[in-house]
Amino acid sequence: MSGMTLSAASLYDRVQRVIPAIEWPVFSDDIDAILKLKRERNAVILAHNYQTPEIFHCVADIVGDSLALARKAMEVEADVIVLAGVHFMAETAKLLNPSKTVLIPDMRAGCSLADSITPQDIRLLRQRYPGVPVVTYVNTSAAVKAESDICCTSGNAKAVVESLGVPRVLMLPDEYLAQNIAKQTDVEIIAWKGHCEVHERFTPEDIREMRAAHPGVTVLAHPECPPEVVAEADFAGSTAAMSDYVGREKPARVVLVTECSMSDNVAVEHPDVEFIRPCNLCPHMKRITLGNIRSALERNEHAVTIDPTVAVRARLAVERMLAV
Ligand code: SF4
Repeated sequence: MSGMTLSAASLYDRVQRVIPAIEWPVFSDDIDAILKLKRERNAVILAHNYQTPEIFHCVADIVGDSLALARKAMEVEADVIVLAGVHFMAETAKLLNPSKTVLIPDMRAGCSLADSITPQDIRLLRQRYPGVPVVTYVNTSAAVKAESDICCTSGNAKAVVESLGVPRVLMLPDEYLAQNIAKQTDVEIIAWKGHCEVHERFTPEDIREMRAAHPGVTVLAHPECPPEVVAEADFAGSTAAMSDYVGREKPARVVLVTECSMSDNVAVEHPDVEFIRPCNLCPHMKRITLGNIRSALERNEHAVTIDPTVAVRARLAVERMLAV
């Protein structure tokens, strides 16, 4: 999105299906201020698919899942990157484009998966499973990535695991993602006990109830959901894969079993598809607001820094993934 000719007034059309007109004045002042600040500071905003529509559709320059954001962060030429997402995403952007100022609008935007494992845990696992490569989900701190052989996302986990050419891998920290990938590959996968606090709350009964209440609905689930939930779905994939599925298959009715804002953001682009919206909110993603994006740009807060010795090793693990 180019900020040069846009204003909040011209942007409302994009989001009118998901933001009631009465709520729009709350957002428009911040949107105009952010568009201006982006030009003044030569900044771009990267927004995750779970960001609310006024961020995703009105101020973001680059949107996507964590894999897409990592790839695009590497190519950013602007001076400043604001990461509208959670802390590990900002760290990944900094790892891949270290000369840029990378800002996260709220330092408390964490992730239950990233919090579930420490570098020390990985060192102990390596002692217990000598020689077994460690594949780490990008939803981890840079310090944990630095202890890993290679990273993966939900979009490329199977390809990453199989790229190693070994019979057994440790796949950390998401237990459910590991179990879901294990069903698709001959490689033996040893999992950790981390869970996404958003996706672990869905149950197979939820899916059966949705099908009963909305006959003919197509159910798409994120692979961070428990395997019993994925088993009830018609399709499982990353947020990017779910979005592609809706565009390609054009189901009449669909439910995205994932974070709430995802449906709003995809619905904006598919007015002909009916979205059923039971969902769970990610409290970390929701810490990012237009207000704190604006103050991040005004005050240059909060700049992400990574210990240089950690950064070298963590970058290697991410770059190995991007090469797969
Ligand atoms: S949705 Fe889950 S995996 Fe994503 S940031 Fe929130 S807690 Fe972490």
